[in-house]
Amino acid sequence: MGLGAAGIAFAPYVKAADVLDEATLQSLPRANQGMPQPKYNEPVVYEGPDVIIRRIDEHTWEGNGHLMANETIYLIEGNERTILLDAGTKIDGLRKIVEGITSKPITLIATHVHPDHTGSAINDFEEIWINAGDEVNVPQFMADYKGKVNFLEDGQVFDLGGRRIEVIFTPGHTPGSATFFEMEGRKWGYSGDAFGSGNLLLTTNFSTLLATTTRIESYMKRHGIEKMYPGHYMGSNPETLQRISDLKKMSEEMIAGTRKGDVSDQGMMGLNGRIRDFGVNISYRDPAGLK
Ligand SMILES: [Zn+2]
Repeated sequence: MGLGAAGIAFAPYVKAADVLDEATLQSLPRANQGMPQPKYNEPVVYEGPDVIIRRIDEHTWEGNGHLMANETIYLIEGNERTILLDAGTKIDGLRKIVEGITSKPITLIATHVHPDHTGSAINDFEEIWINAGDEVNVPQFMADYKGKVNFLEDGQVFDLGGRRIEVIFTPGHTPGSATFFEMEGRKWGYSGDAFGSGNLLLTTNFSTLLATTTRIESYMKRHGIEKMYPGHYMGSNPETLQRISDLKKMSEEMIAGTRKGDVSDQGMMGLNGRIRDFGVNISYRDPAGLK
C-alpha cells in the first residue's frame, strides 16, 4: 500500500471521490503529501482499462494501475527470463498483457505483500516470490493465492541471462519489503514502497528504517546506483541517494528525540504520527514506531 488506508484510494491520482464521502475525504489531509503530479516521459507501449505500460528502455518497462496512487509494476527482461515485479491491485489479464510485451518466461516477484502490489493478478501465475518477513501480511492480502510461494533470500541473485538482479532486504514500510538492484550496466534499482515514493508509510519503526537507510546509502555509494524506481512511480519521483540520506537523518533524530512529529487521531492504518521535511512525508506509529 503506498498511500491511503485500507484499500482506499485518493484523488487526484485516483477516483477517491467515487468511493469516499466528502467528510471522509476532508478527514484525510495527508493522503497525497509528498507525491508529485504524474508526468511520464516514457513512451506508452500498452494501454488497457486496468494498466498503462511504458517503456523505460529496450528491455525494461513500467506499468501503472489507477486504483492506488498509480501503483507500479515493472518488467525486467534478460536473454532468458523476465521478472515481473509486483502485480498491481486489480489488473485483469495481466499475464496475457505482459506476454504481449516479453516473449521470455516470467518470474513473478513481489517487493512486499500489500494489496496494491500483490493484487488479484498474482493468480495468473503458478509461483510468486516474497520476502518471508511479509508472511504476516499474507492472511490479509494474499489469502486467495493458490500457487506456490517461494521465499527470497537477502543477497539472492536472479540471473535473467545477460542481466542479473540482486535482492536486498529493506524492511521498514513492511517487515518484508525488498529492493532489487541491477548488477551491471544500468545504475538503478527497484524499491517498491520501501522508501515511500515521497510518502513513506512506516509500519515498523524508525530503528528498522535507520538500519535499512544506512545499508542502502552505503550500497548505492559502493555500486554507483543513481536511482531506484519506486512502487508508485509518477514519472519524476525515483528514490535518490539524497532521499535515502534524508530518511536516515530523520530516523536518527526521531530515535534521539531531537525531532518531534505531529500526532493526531486521524492516522491511516494506525499511523497516527507524521513528520515532513526535505520534501518527504513519513507516517509512523506513535509511540510504538519511535523505537
Ligand atoms: Zn505498500
